[in-house]
Amino acid sequence: MTKKIQIAIDGPAGAGKSTIAKIVAEALTFTYIDTGAMYRAVTYKGMQQNIQLDDSVRLEEMLRQTEIKLQPSPQGQLVFVDGENVSDAIRSNKVTSNVSQVAAHPNIRRILVTMQQELAANGGVVMDGRDIATHVLKDAELKIFMSASVEERARRRFLDNEGRGIPSTIENLQEEIALRDKLDSEREASPLIQAEDALYLDTTALTIEEAATKILKLANEKMM
Ligand code: C5P
Repeated sequence: MTKKIQIAIDGPAGAGKSTIAKIVAEALTFTYIDTGAMYRAVTYKGMQQNIQLDDSVRLEEMLRQTEIKLQPSPQGQLVFVDGENVSDAIRSNKVTSNVSQVAAHPNIRRILVTMQQELAANGGVVMDGRDIATHVLKDAELKIFMSASVEERARRRFLDNEGRGIPSTIENLQEEIALRDKLDSEREASPLIQAEDALYLDTTALTIEEAATKILKLANEKMM
């Protein structure tokens, strides 16, 4: 039987983390966990409830009474908030441009990190986010820090948005991505940073398959 390891994939927005993590998880029959979706779910519900997103106390009260469920499906991971399927709604431009503010609150992170650690406790997971290798799964057997140029990341987001029917322009996406990188890297609580023991993977010139193959090779070495 193969060892059920934990694989942590971190990196900035649009580096290809979720697409590649999904392929790796499928190939290994591991569970894929998209932690960004959890921060997005909190942001979505906070906005629905007209909570000021800088009010971490009210956001925490809300989160303590919220059920967030991640469910694998053939179309990818589905996200439910209190039973409502919010998988598309959490990808809207409004949620995207506000999520980093919510994710900067240490009290919100503490709650979501605990949930993430519980989901990964039995191993056999590929988890992607910003602080997985540095905080959530410090003992993960394989840690990858994935990045790509801002131009390439904006181009990928543009194509992704087109597929989802979300209007955007490459210029706006470049700005949005650069701002989100800055907020995520400069915040005090668990900023986006490469873990010392993480391997750097630049996907600018790689296809999705090439990047997934590289990670699968490393994972198989760890499982031998
Ligand atoms: O991965 P995705 O782009 O969906 O993440 C949305 C936002 O959630 C990030 O820009 C970041 O602010 C936050 N996030 C985080 N820690 C994680 C995952 C996401 O702070 N582990």
